[in-house]
Amino acid sequence: MPITLKTKVSELTGVGSVYQKKLEKLHIETVEDLLLYLPRTWEDFSKITEIAKVRPPGTYCIQGNIWSIGNKRSARRRMYITEAIIADKTGTMKAVWFNQPFLIKNMKQGDEVLLAGRVEREYGQALMKSPAYEKKSEEQTHLGKIVPTYKETDGLSSRWLRYQVSRLIKVIYSFKEYLPAEVIKNQSLMSYSAMIRQLHFPDNSFQLEKAIDRLNFDEMFLLQVAVQNQRKALDKNRAISIRFNEEISKEFVKKLGFTLTNAQKKATWEIIKDLEKPVPMNRLLEGDVGSGKTVVSAMASLMVANDGFQAVFLAPTEILAKQHFESLKKMLESFEIKVEILTGKTKKSERNRILKEVKDGEVQILVGTHAVLKEDIEFWNLAFVIVDEQHRFGVGQRAKLRQKSGQKGTMPHFLSMSATPIPRTLTLSVYGDLDISVIDEMPQGRKKVATFVIPPEKKQDSYEFIRHTVKKGRQVFVICPLIDDSETMELKSVTAEYERLSRMVFTDLKVAMIHGKMRPEEKERIMKDFATGKTNILVSTSLVEVGVDVPNATIMIIEGADRFGLAQLHQFRGRVGRGKYQSYCFLFTDNESETVQKRLDAITKTNDGFKIAEEDLEIRGPGEVLGERQHGLPDINTKNLMDVQLIKRTKTEAKNFLKKNNVEDFPLLAEKISRYDGVANLE
Ligand code: ADP
Ligand code: MG
Repeated sequence: MPITLKTKVSELTGVGSVYQKKLEKLHIETVEDLLLYLPRTWEDFSKITEIAKVRPPGTYCIQGNIWSIGNKRSARRRMYITEAIIADKTGTMKAVWFNQPFLIKNMKQGDEVLLAGRVEREYGQALMKSPAYEKKSEEQTHLGKIVPTYKETDGLSSRWLRYQVSRLIKVIYSFKEYLPAEVIKNQSLMSYSAMIRQLHFPDNSFQLEKAIDRLNFDEMFLLQVAVQNQRKALDKNRAISIRFNEEISKEFVKKLGFTLTNAQKKATWEIIKDLEKPVPMNRLLEGDVGSGKTVVSAMASLMVANDGFQAVFLAPTEILAKQHFESLKKMLESFEIKVEILTGKTKKSERNRILKEVKDGEVQILVGTHAVLKEDIEFWNLAFVIVDEQHRFGVGQRAKLRQKSGQKGTMPHFLSMSATPIPRTLTLSVYGDLDISVIDEMPQGRKKVATFVIPPEKKQDSYEFIRHTVKKGRQVFVICPLIDDSETMELKSVTAEYERLSRMVFTDLKVAMIHGKMRPEEKERIMKDFATGKTNILVSTSLVEVGVDVPNATIMIIEGADRFGLAQLHQFRGRVGRGKYQSYCFLFTDNESETVQKRLDAITKTNDGFKIAEEDLEIRGPGEVLGERQHGLPDINTKNLMDVQLIKRTKTEAKNFLKKNNVEDFPLLAEKISRYDGVANLE
């Protein structure tokens, strides 16, 4: 039977059950999957250097005859060493391999071979160490040309993959083009099958560049079409148009007791303008912890309630919900707006009452944790949904909320708030045409949090500093690292740290601990004790709280700081520096690796959340920045997500394409796009 794209890899010669299993792990089951396992880097071994011209140290590709080859064992290290002497017209060179005694079966005296690798000078002689090798033949697969390097995993080498793929070249031509002809023409792209062929077997660097260009274009173009198409669909929906009441808004601001920052004013205005429209708002409100997002959303909710509609305000945790509830109630109290709170822990009778009042329209603003979504909740006329820290909500949950609209045929306006700044390039790409308001300005009088990386030997000094600061009346947070995503381990680590600090270090101070396994009442009591200054030091897990507001807390200690993403560290840091006192953040780490130090240094140098997010994106990839589980992105090259030029190019092309066409009329394209369902569009 001829091999086709649908042929199972297990039917290929050389793929036994062992390799089949390895391929399966990479989700490679068919020839098509295998051919789409594309290399991401290439090495140029097209240039062959005469041995006499090799100048160590450096990387070279040479071609010659094997004069001699043999194994010996190093006595001391008990290791096999394979040594060969290669000769061309101009000279000879020695090559060595370690622990690959089988090589002498592949390469024999007299064979003509190509070798490529690092050449060093040892004892005055040029020595090629562990070079890649290939016998000279008509069709070189590995050397004498530009060769791809695949992501190697678990016993699947590039060498093996190259060999398998090299026998499938003919099949590559059956890949069908899925991009619309006009797009290919506009962008002068190589065809899809040519791209696959060139990526695996570049003819030359020019063709390879064209292929990489097509690969990158496709990746971002598909993403753009996906998000813009989702937006197109969203814009077909209707929403309740909310009337703006200037008088009430002025009264609201007056009662705040402070003036809004310009950034807050601008964000509020953008939201109010959106609410007035009869299409659902889909907006993200970004701003560092403490920048005053709650005030902005409170004002928007007030407009909604005042116009006779309902709003729901969702927080990721119990304590945050409570905090939002309290501050909303306070801010809205004089406007006679009925605000209620509903969480997973609300008593049954209470819950029933609230549910009924929500259904009857009596409750105008409902605050809750996402447990609210699980309830069979009905609204009287829900017009506005606010979600705090949206990246903690799953895509599915958001979709569910969308459906909870009270008024037939309409969809609620949607505002998502996040303290995690999303790098500009990501807002352009992943978030497509999502509207964004940014609060990039802190309320006046906030001081910069002084941040330091503390190695183990300096820990004692910082404890002294802490004691001193507490004696002056301030308070301290200590964050313990989340271990292996395990609640049990986490509990252990926070308990151990608590015991250590309370019994050995700060015996003279009041230390408390809080973690996710505690009962809500207990957590609440502990938070309250801390907020009112009854305890000096609060040891907490990373999961407990993001937004708690304790202005008297001025020191943030993060244990095992190297285990956190930069954006997360930045968030923790945002919990101090909220009052009038100078605040400090100490990053404890015993990891001395250069990369870790560099990362942590980055955060000591800047307070700009966006810069930090860019850095995170670069170092840790989009999953870290957007939240792994929900961002829903297929495997996309981080470099592309940060390539502003490419984003603009694909965005424009996608826009032009969608203006004239429907994706559904391009079935192959539509199929590709379907992989992007649920990309972070805040639904
Ligand atoms: P976020 O939700 O962005 O973390 P909050 O809305 O909770 O921030 O605000 C943090 C604190 O700052 C609150 O105590 C709030 O009352 C206060 N605040 C908000 N805006 C201002 C402002 N413009 N001037 C002074 N204080 C403000
Ligand atoms: Mg907040």
